[in-house]
Amino acid sequence: MKVTEHIKKAEGKTLFSFEIIPPKKGSSIDELYRNIDPLMAYDPPFIDVTTSREEFVYIDKGGLLERKITRMRPGTVGICAAIKHKYDVDTIPHVLCGGFTKEETEYLLVDCNYLGIDNVMALRGDAMKHQRYFEKTRGGHEYASELVEQIRNLREGKYLHETMEAGNRADFCIGVAGYPEKHLEAPSLETDLKKLKHKVDMGADYVVTQMFFRNEAYFEFVERARAMGITVPIIPGIKPIAVKRHLQLLPQVFKIDLPEALIAEVEKCKDNKAVRQVGVEWCIQQSRELKEAGVPVLHYYSMGKSDNIKAIAESVF
Ligand code: FAD
Repeated sequence: MKVTEHIKKAEGKTLFSFEIIPPKKGSSIDELYRNIDPLMAYDPPFIDVTTSREEFVYIDKGGLLERKITRMRPGTVGICAAIKHKYDVDTIPHVLCGGFTKEETEYLLVDCNYLGIDNVMALRGDAMKHQRYFEKTRGGHEYASELVEQIRNLREGKYLHETMEAGNRADFCIGVAGYPEKHLEAPSLETDLKKLKHKVDMGADYVVTQMFFRNEAYFEFVERARAMGITVPIIPGIKPIAVKRHLQLLPQVFKIDLPEALIAEVEKCKDNKAVRQVGVEWCIQQSRELKEAGVPVLHYYSMGKSDNIKAIAESVF
């Protein structure tokens, strides 16, 4: 079922959902299941599965390092199929521009369609580690809006190159990313919102936000998006702080602002067990306020370990 249909069916009740990261290649999927199992009690209508783009690895060839390109966390669509089958829940693969040609994306979407996957999240992806800026993959897309257009075209049976009659219309519900504190490359929030509007105009059906720790950032973002004519659901994505290092890491990687009160509480902590507890409590407060405000879904970034998300869900749902 589509995310938009789940939201409609809920009739104003806030739904619980979360995002998981595929395990590193060579690991078993059982660890993932052990983290998903405790969260199923909160009835998520859908689970997102991220995609990691390719990266360089260096292999020691007798003193000389050989550079090879690989994907350390492959298998997004396979994991979506496995989870969908095991838990009878909708799964949402993240589809990237970076690292994929349009053809490869089309094959992936065809697989998703065969597997009965109804939703996809369309994202640009980040620059590779050695790149200063995102560089379009040869034969791929530059912006998420172009990827949205490719996915939307399947609704009309328009596949690439149009060399054949395509009777099958793959009607994916399309999610895109939104940034309450603006995307790190955008010159202003206003400009970034215009690009978000473009993604919606190209066919996106809903938005999931980047994490934020001040709910005001989300509320203002939604207000500005609505004023601009973006009418699709805007799902808040939130994450509990889990280790002290997040105080530097999250602002550095995502260019987000952490509230003084949260920083002060984390700095008082003697170890990361205490930080994890502070993160849970902060996220519970954020979740309760967002739920009271009537958000359609509370979407949690689980980053592998689910004990903290379970503690939050227990208090909020
Ligand atoms: P876009 O919408 O293409 O925007 C990228 C930048 O370009 C923005 O600054 C925007 O303002 C600007 N822009 C857009 N269109 C134009 C245009 N026509 N002209 C000029 N500028 C333009 N990353 C992963 O690698 N894997 C994941 O699974 C993943 N999941 C995510 C899930 C969520 C909910 C979120 C919020 C992010 C996720 N990301 C993921 C991170 C995402 O890939 C990065 O934030 C990336 O840098 C931007 O992706 P986007 O889809 O927002 O890009």
